[in-house]
Amino acid sequence: MNASSAESVGSAKPVPVPETEDLPYWEGLRRGELVLQRCDSCGALTQRAMLLCANCGCEERTWTAVSGRGTVYSFAVANQTWVRGFQGETLYVIVVVSVAEWPSLLITTNLVNSSDPDAIGLGADVRAVFEPRGDQVMLQYELVGGSHV
Ligand SMILES: [Zn+2]
Repeated sequence: MNASSAESVGSAKPVPVPETEDLPYWEGLRRGELVLQRCDSCGALTQRAMLLCANCGCEERTWTAVSGRGTVYSFAVANQTWVRGFQGETLYVIVVVSVAEWPSLLITTNLVNSSDPDAIGLGADVRAVFEPRGDQVMLQYELVGGSHV
């Protein structure tokens, strides 16, 4: 079974169904930790389990907890949605975060606790926020101290 759809959960937000290979990531979120897969050879990080390191081709990797810190690489403020579970939450912010420990790793999710585009800037510092949803925990980010470039 893959990810459940909005239709299958009525008006609730969709809840992902983890694959076996990604369980350390999802278990980390339940503990309030961002756990990423680190290449044992070059140190590259990925959000999802990979067969080979995209940076060096190494096959050996280790799930590793990181700080949860990063910076805003890009963002968009949405003022409408077609997903019923989110319809009470517009405006909401879709953010692309550059991970502090491996800046070329970009994670796309939501920025919470701020929907003012003037308060969000490229390069702004963010930290991970862990939102329980159904039987999973979702990774989201929030601004740190409102600093931005
Ligand atoms: Zn590598």
